[in-house]
Amino acid sequence: MIGTDLNKAINFLKQGELVAIPTETVYGLAANAFDEKAVLKIYQAKNRPQFNPLIIHSNAIEKFTSWGLILPEKLLQLATRFSPGPLTYVIPKSNQIPDMVTAGTDAVAIRIPNHPIALKLLSELDFPLAAPSANPSGYVSPTNALHVQEQLGEKVSYILDGGECNVGLESTIISFLDNVPSILRFGGLSLEAIESVIGKVNSSFNNQHAISPVAPGMLSRHYATKHKLIVGDVEKNILQSASQKIAIISFHKKYNEVVEAHQFILSKNKNLEEAAQKLFSVMRAIDKLDVDVILAEEFPEIGLGRAINDRLKRASIK
Ligand code: AMP
Ligand code: MG
Repeated sequence: MIGTDLNKAINFLKQGELVAIPTETVYGLAANAFDEKAVLKIYQAKNRPQFNPLIIHSNAIEKFTSWGLILPEKLLQLATRFSPGPLTYVIPKSNQIPDMVTAGTDAVAIRIPNHPIALKLLSELDFPLAAPSANPSGYVSPTNALHVQEQLGEKVSYILDGGECNVGLESTIISFLDNVPSILRFGGLSLEAIESVIGKVNSSFNNQHAISPVAPGMLSRHYATKHKLIVGDVEKNILQSASQKIAIISFHKKYNEVVEAHQFILSKNKNLEEAAQKLFSVMRAIDKLDVDVILAEEFPEIGLGRAINDRLKRASIK
């Protein structure tokens, strides 16, 4: 059921049930992180491999320290600027964090989401919420309540409606497990913003190495559309897809070779934030069309362009 009743959401969560919650990044599938039975329901509802750990959410840094977590100085500097916000910190876990949340690893991922309803909800709870994106594992993340309803409606007790997500991409994940902080996933906060506060970080991960087992599940096909998706030079790929029904995802350009109804321009004004915000709902919309292939441009590798490229590339892996 979709609704805006905060008390209903609170009661379901206290009873160990699943509630989909709005955040500024994407909708989360939330459960009491301290209740292993409730957390198990998240994995089951999403069909998520149990080796893929969950991010825990709360409304204040002090709550995380009260749960035994030790926060490094650079994390605190970032938190002062960017939390609440689309930034997740990976740090050593404490005994109070169940293994079910961290998938048996010694690290936990924490975040303060920047959404008024999520913050109000979290402020009423004395436990953190474990919440991955509220979509079946591997599919595109939901950016409004209806997206959740369509795919997980039967599996959640309540969907708390907080409107459209205004960032629209998952959080950026930064790890503090090594001396030099490293980015584990590009997302809604740019690398440039992070480095402007704490200086150079390690962001050189690529699809060949480094991530596993720190953040399992990051290498594989993910955020995937049902239709085949190809990223790269769209003009060239149009020629190579002759006789196929094509949809296009572009930054700001029009392609005369393809019917207008199948062209999705993410930002006429060349604004990467706007493009990021629209990306997932466009991917979902295209999945409902009768097309054979989605051709996506490669976006500029700056700001949120990095995260957009990351999602498109992982959607394109077969
Ligand atoms: P989602 O919330 O669906 O975007 O997925 C959460 C992401 O956070 C996944 O990519 C996880 O691999 C990553 N993550 C969660 N917990 C940890 C952790 N303890 N260490 C590293 N990565 C994590
Ligand atoms: Mg996800």
